[in-house]
Amino acid sequence: MLSLLVCLKIMCTGCGDPMDTTLQCEGRQGRDEETGALIKIPCPCCGTRNQVAFTTDGTIHAVTRARTYERIPEPSVN
Ligand SMILES: [Zn+2]
Repeated sequence: MLSLLVCLKIMCTGCGDPMDTTLQCEGRQGRDEETGALIKIPCPCCGTRNQVAFTTDGTIHAVTRARTYERIPEPSVN
């Protein structure tokens, strides 16, 4: 098994702060090489969850704001 460390530097989609993340990728080379992976990194500053698409060579393809599934309190009908 091959494992490698991938360093990602992204900017928070919420507050614009730069973040460094180091990930350990277990080697599934040849298979995931092109598809890459998706991770979610919560910003320590503003709490925005950033969804990062990257490949294991350290290339960042997209940083988007991850959807939050927190429930918004709805007003009761009655
Ligand atoms: Zn932030």
